[in-house]
Amino acid sequence: MPPKITVVTAAPERAAAEAYIQDRISSEGKQTETANPSTSPAHISYAERRRRYREKKRAKNREEESSTGFSVTAGSEADVSVQSLRTDTDTLAPEPLRPRPQLKKPSPQQRDITEVKVPVLAHYELRKLPKANGDKEDGDQGLFATQKLTQGTRIISERPLLTLTAPGDQLEDLISQFKLLSPTDQERVWDIRPASPEASSQLKYLQLLVDKLAKEIKPIVHKPLVDRTNAEQAWLVAMAPKLEHAMTVWRLAARWHVNRCSMIDKPMHERYRLPPGTPITGLFIERARVRHSCVPNCFASFDASRRLMNVHVTRDIAPGEELTLAAFADTLYYNTAEERALELEEWGLKCNCEACDTTHPRFNVHEAARTRAHARVILLNDILTRLETQPLPEPDLTTAHNHLLALIRDLKTSRCDTVESVRWRNILVERILPARAIFKSADEKLVAWKVILEHAKECERLGRLCFGEDREEFEVLKEQREASEAAVRMIGDGVVELLMQEEGVPF
Ligand SMILES: [Zn+2]
Repeated sequence: MPPKITVVTAAPERAAAEAYIQDRISSEGKQTETANPSTSPAHISYAERRRRYREKKRAKNREEESSTGFSVTAGSEADVSVQSLRTDTDTLAPEPLRPRPQLKKPSPQQRDITEVKVPVLAHYELRKLPKANGDKEDGDQGLFATQKLTQGTRIISERPLLTLTAPGDQLEDLISQFKLLSPTDQERVWDIRPASPEASSQLKYLQLLVDKLAKEIKPIVHKPLVDRTNAEQAWLVAMAPKLEHAMTVWRLAARWHVNRCSMIDKPMHERYRLPPGTPITGLFIERARVRHSCVPNCFASFDASRRLMNVHVTRDIAPGEELTLAAFADTLYYNTAEERALELEEWGLKCNCEACDTTHPRFNVHEAARTRAHARVILLNDILTRLETQPLPEPDLTTAHNHLLALIRDLKTSRCDTVESVRWRNILVERILPARAIFKSADEKLVAWKVILEHAKECERLGRLCFGEDREEFEVLKEQREASEAAVRMIGDGVVELLMQEEGVPF
């Protein structure tokens, strides 16, 4: 499948993107610091994108409401069953592989990578954050480095405390699992950040239920025992556990909603084929303690073969610096601060990173880079879709090549040049550059493949940094670099020219 980004697939945006890119190409490098994307042609469609986003959100809320399955009836008949409370699992996956270029999956042949040991250096601590002015709620908390951390260091590797499986995905299962946890582990769950009560219609509904039960019970609880009638006392005894259960469901749902992670890297349409009982969503406590940033310094990924959530440091981190992760990845690199704020709001999150704080000196740099990247992806999707079905002429390949290099630069500028950059660089390595190299002369071909090799080396470096050498994702990138090296050797030795002469095989 060609790479696509959910929010940028509309064809009418292409013309605006082309105009915007032309405009940016002529000014790139000169006005980056002062760019004002709000006046760019690419923003003509901003209102439309926002309208679509809100529509999608409303539709999702309606769907949630229709499937919540709660029946709040009057008085003592209040039903606190959560049997059919549906939860959406395609949510805060640290690595939700939406229709962007995918990392290649390993080939079925056996690999011997289990011998590689990647140490886990958990040099961090949980710290309370200072409360914002006037904030009456409990202060937030985050993880902070206790010593210098070098990029590529694995700082967390943990198993899920709670999971939900396919098919089913019932919150009732979650409650049952929670009750089986040790008191210490239950406390660890209560200690992580809950979503705001407004974050979803489900949470609002649960809050409504708790409030309703509490309101009914309160007058009797406040009566001295001697003044209660037998009927009131009996009703209280019956209702108190229901209120307690509803409270537990509500508190757990609020933590699950904002902290759950996908344990599957398959697209949604392939998940229906998973065997029953496959865990698809999990709650990882240490990972949940890392706060979101649109300019994260860590990367989280789930190692499905070992059932471990790993977190790696992707930039050198100074002692005392906070560790941060992206709560969502699919639109993080391409949306404006306003669009990201809407998406974060859906999870009850707020972000004040340098890309979101309008007073930060680098705010405009981020906005401009992400807007440019957005426009480039629209054009690249178009070119790469056509490349799926037909060999493209050299001018199209040159355009794709230039946009890909510029996109990688933009990702670097917005400080998101990790796995996202690998995905796009892979397109250069696998499709664009080899296609351009085919009809070059022997000398030019060698140079072209040396360039491919350099991109492959960078992919391998980023793969090691983000995943670690014990992961198949890294192994695939390593094989790609080895294959590029072999190609350079063959071309250098004249083997390719010989093949072409003997067999007429283009290479
Ligand atoms: Zn942010």
